[in-house]
Amino acid sequence: MGNGQGVGGIYIAGHRGMVGSAIRRALESAGEANVLSATSKDLDLRNATAVDEFLAANRPTQVYLAAAKVGGIQANNAYPAEFIHDNLAIQDNVIHAAWRHGVQRLLFLGSSCIYPRDTKQPMREEVLLTGPLEPTNEPYAIAKVAGIKLCESYNRQYGTDFRSVMPTNLYGPGDNFDLETSHVLPALIRKTHEARVTGAESIPVWGSGRPMREFLHVDDMAAACVHVMNLDRATWQAHTDPRCSHLNVGTGEDLSIGDLARLVADVVGFEGQLAFDPDRPDGTPRKLLDVSRLKGLGWQASIGLREGIEQTYQWYLENPA
Ligand code: GDP
Repeated sequence: MGNGQGVGGIYIAGHRGMVGSAIRRALESAGEANVLSATSKDLDLRNATAVDEFLAANRPTQVYLAAAKVGGIQANNAYPAEFIHDNLAIQDNVIHAAWRHGVQRLLFLGSSCIYPRDTKQPMREEVLLTGPLEPTNEPYAIAKVAGIKLCESYNRQYGTDFRSVMPTNLYGPGDNFDLETSHVLPALIRKTHEARVTGAESIPVWGSGRPMREFLHVDDMAAACVHVMNLDRATWQAHTDPRCSHLNVGTGEDLSIGDLARLVADVVGFEGQLAFDPDRPDGTPRKLLDVSRLKGLGWQASIGLREGIEQTYQWYLENPA
């Protein structure tokens, strides 16, 4: 547990996940030597006592809360109990222990699915809790909304400095390429690659192909997290509201699932057809983030979608499951 470098340092909860490992790379390449982590075997974040003991022993100054049970549309539909329970437990334990052990700053990572299903696009932070959620991932979204409110409540009652960022759909190295539980982009990379290799005439694409999605490379997400963590408190407070303190993180641009599938086919070199499967759910029709708050705080995405897909495809080829 920990890295044996003593009290202080930066703890990344979820350092083995796609986002946590990207945050670790970003911190290490910025010269940060004292990064703490613990594998889920050594520290079960759903266990409140274990989390409390870990933070008591290591006393980090900063915490990136990137640990979560995550998955695509089908995994959310199949395991709703785990998606709400594990996420509520993880964030409740880490946030409460961070307050108890004097963590100076914590960054909680959520998701753009916190916003109402049928809301004005692009979605501003203020539309939170103004309407019903998309049913396919409501349990996960409710947990993430609770995480934002946990941070705000501790800030209001105890004067802590706990911040929240809500990324759009993420992708990149370290993604989950399991076709049953993954998100759409890694699934399309895998299906398209396998179709090219086997000479298949078409690839299955779930749903109608019409839903619109926004995609952010995980290295951009990690850069945004480090940027937001390091903003001084006065700047952070000037750009957020104590009762609406979360920040959207995205590119501000989206495309249809059909166009995404065509872009992946182009990158992979697959010339066959797309076979849309209307028996699979479309999920929410659109969830484009308004990223003007974060732009006002001096950060914007820099990795283009084609470039990001090319790099992720390369990683997939070099890292067979
Ligand atoms: P969502 O953004 O929470 O809906 O999660 P996903 O990334 O799982 O799905 C995004 C959209 O892509 C949905 O409309 C899916 O039906 C569609 N989609 C198309 N093909 C696939 C696939 O092979 N896997 C997944 N997960 N989604 C797919």
